[in-house]
Amino acid sequence: MKFAAPLAACLLFGVSTPALAAGSLPQTVAPVAYDITVDPDAKALTFTGSESITVDVKQATDTITLNAADLDISKATFDGKATPVSADAAQQQITLKLAEPASVGTHVLTFAWTGKINKTAAGFFAIDYTNKDGSDARMLVTQFEAPDARRFAPMWDEPGFKATFKLSAVAPADETAFSNMPVSSVDTQADGSKLYHFDVSPKMSSYLLFLGMGDVERKTIQDGNVEIGVITRRGVVDQGDYALQSAKRVLDYYNNYFGTPYPLPKLDMIAGPGSSQFFAAMENWGAIFYFEPTLLFDPSHETVSDKEDIFLTIAHEMAHQWFGDLVTPEWWDDLWLNEGFASWMSNKAMNDLNPSWNIAAQNVAHDREGALGADSTAATHPIIRHLTTVDQIGSAFDGITYSKGQAVIGMIESTVGPDTFRTGIRNYMAKYKYSNTVTDQLWDEIGKAWGKPIAPIAHDFTLQGGVPLIKVASETCSGGTGTVNLSQGRFGLDAASKSPQTWHVPVKIGAIGGGAADGIVSGPANTAMTVKGCPPVVVNLGKQSYFRTQYDAKDHAALVAQFPRLALTDQLGTLGDDMALARGGYQDLGVYFDTLDAVPQNADPLVWSVVAGDIGGFASLYRDTPLERPLRAKADKILSPILQRIGFEAKPGEQPYVVDLRSSLISQLGVDGDPALVAKARSYVAALKTDPDAIPAAIRRPILLTYAYNATPAEWEALLALTKAETNPVIKNFDVVMLGLAKDDALARRALDLVKTDTFTAPQRASLLAATSQRHPDMAFDFAVANLDTVNELLEESTRASYVVSLGSRSNDPAMPGKIQAFADKNLPESSRQGVKRALTSIAVRKEVAERLRPAVTKWAAK
Ligand SMILES: [Zn+2]
Repeated sequence: MKFAAPLAACLLFGVSTPALAAGSLPQTVAPVAYDITVDPDAKALTFTGSESITVDVKQATDTITLNAADLDISKATFDGKATPVSADAAQQQITLKLAEPASVGTHVLTFAWTGKINKTAAGFFAIDYTNKDGSDARMLVTQFEAPDARRFAPMWDEPGFKATFKLSAVAPADETAFSNMPVSSVDTQADGSKLYHFDVSPKMSSYLLFLGMGDVERKTIQDGNVEIGVITRRGVVDQGDYALQSAKRVLDYYNNYFGTPYPLPKLDMIAGPGSSQFFAAMENWGAIFYFEPTLLFDPSHETVSDKEDIFLTIAHEMAHQWFGDLVTPEWWDDLWLNEGFASWMSNKAMNDLNPSWNIAAQNVAHDREGALGADSTAATHPIIRHLTTVDQIGSAFDGITYSKGQAVIGMIESTVGPDTFRTGIRNYMAKYKYSNTVTDQLWDEIGKAWGKPIAPIAHDFTLQGGVPLIKVASETCSGGTGTVNLSQGRFGLDAASKSPQTWHVPVKIGAIGGGAADGIVSGPANTAMTVKGCPPVVVNLGKQSYFRTQYDAKDHAALVAQFPRLALTDQLGTLGDDMALARGGYQDLGVYFDTLDAVPQNADPLVWSVVAGDIGGFASLYRDTPLERPLRAKADKILSPILQRIGFEAKPGEQPYVVDLRSSLISQLGVDGDPALVAKARSYVAALKTDPDAIPAAIRRPILLTYAYNATPAEWEALLALTKAETNPVIKNFDVVMLGLAKDDALARRALDLVKTDTFTAPQRASLLAATSQRHPDMAFDFAVANLDTVNELLEESTRASYVVSLGSRSNDPAMPGKIQAFADKNLPESSRQGVKRALTSIAVRKEVAERLRPAVTKWAAK
């Protein structure tokens, strides 16, 4: 083993540490304890609230500023005296002007107000659904991350201000209320309604507070002194059994991993029968909220692949109970500490608790490729960057924060070793519990455990955007020792992301049938690494580091000749790198086809799912051009035999990724209009009228997709009738999406007409519009611009700045970039244009890549 560059030298590398970031509220006054009572009117979609906040005045002041948004404040007092309040709606702040300066020490503020219950998932919001008997039902829940607790009560709504929360809420006589903490008492009121009081929470950030109420059932299991619960709409609580069992296993695993046990007496998981354009689940401390399909398992229409998603989502949200809830970023600049970590941790738990699902390889195929893709264009950004506005904070929940964050943490764990890494995490948890941190405090603890600083590597990957490209040249062998020469640059899909840049890149190499070696490649100069055994050498063994690899032609050919002998992760990573290198113009697409030719027929299903995605991607790259047809025909010729081999119907004991492969093959062949498949889909859907379970769970979604995509007007109307009559909210949400996927222009227009009516709920209408943009991006974008007020009403505020422009991002019409720019100029301030940049970049990159690959793709299609 040989270090390519000593780490001591890395310390000289001048990367600055980010300043302690902060929000915009003055630090002179901080909350200590909130006591909040709310009384909702679910029918009128309003609520009244009152609170008393014990505050710590740190510096004498005659003004106190905190957050409030969309609240009508009727009364405010300071130490019992009525006090005038002024509001700054744009800043979402209110300021109390005190008659005389408050002295340093403890004081009490009170407020009374009325607020709105929203129809989309922000602040206090309603989820409308139907009961099994077809009657209407409404569940009320809250969603506060990132900055929406201020729509519930006046608060210091920034993560750095931790305080305790005592919550009380009025619920109708026939409903149940639930929150972060257990119920301490319930008072029956004169009108029969119930006033719930919940126990006081530990010190926590405002975005983690939660309240819910509805006609629900709760089922629990005990794990040590923690009660784990699942809360669902009436009638489906048994569908939470898988979640309960999984949560118990994950809780034991995390209690051990983090070294600090889960500190609350209970951990509820709440299933909301709705949807959001912004999120799928939220880690409220002790009361994790999920939209139903991410928590409940219904065997009548779900598969082992859905179980895998449920497990991963639970493990992600439970990781936040430590990373996020117990220890919280000081400010949203370090959001990745929550999200990158939780994503990585959930994969680690999955790997250890469900090893047969092979999550490490799935990661290389999906998450890692997703991160590298998002990080390879001008629209990327450093993982850590300064955020100020509400729109900027909303847009930070992206692929870079989650997937690149996950990849970078995985790389660092693999660099220092899993035991050392865990020691660092345990020390970090013990040291910072119930408080706030910045990223460097984590690196310090990992570095101490490792015995040398990790920051030089970590800073390179978190404070600058972009993907390293390691070039491999002239592999040689002498006396049984292989040598490879490595150099680095920056990999990019567009000119702006190809600027010179370097990193301290941890690199692991391995000779096929020989040994392995670790090193660090830093700076642009050539670095030689040696390994026991002769070439071909796999660079980035196991694909645990975050970079692309380009071999010279001879070494690539030698490696590909051994393709079946490579580990699955390296097979997947090689295909991913070869496709990306062709798309970026670094090597000919023919090199990718050489690799493809080396894939054996009996390759792992994951390899075939990557191939299916790659060659299916060609057809959409040339959508509506003369190349589309021959490309679809060519892809079908390769993919049909694979479907035949794994079979049209599920076999018992199948792995999740086999179910996924079947689903994506059927979807692709169905979209390509395979006549036998379309006929099959039609007969299955016709049978749904008399038997709701007519379609086997394993193929339900791709069959419906095939039907919807190829629908005639009469078939589309039949699907609409089925959707309207559906009482299962999960199936209904899915079917609404299907209505937007028809290929036929006139049917897409019918779907858009529906968005304007109240046939479906606001979140369903937002999903329907987004679905229509898949095949008809121009039509969907034009519709949204022409009906902007209606469309904005369907969206959480945090989604608005990027939603409309993202509808146009799949367009191949040369006019679209101009239309998106004009929309932005008219509607979005400069600080809210991250989504605009992503959409414009994605259109430009797709065009550039299509031109670049055209000759090779044309040749391949004709072969
Ligand atoms: Zn998360």
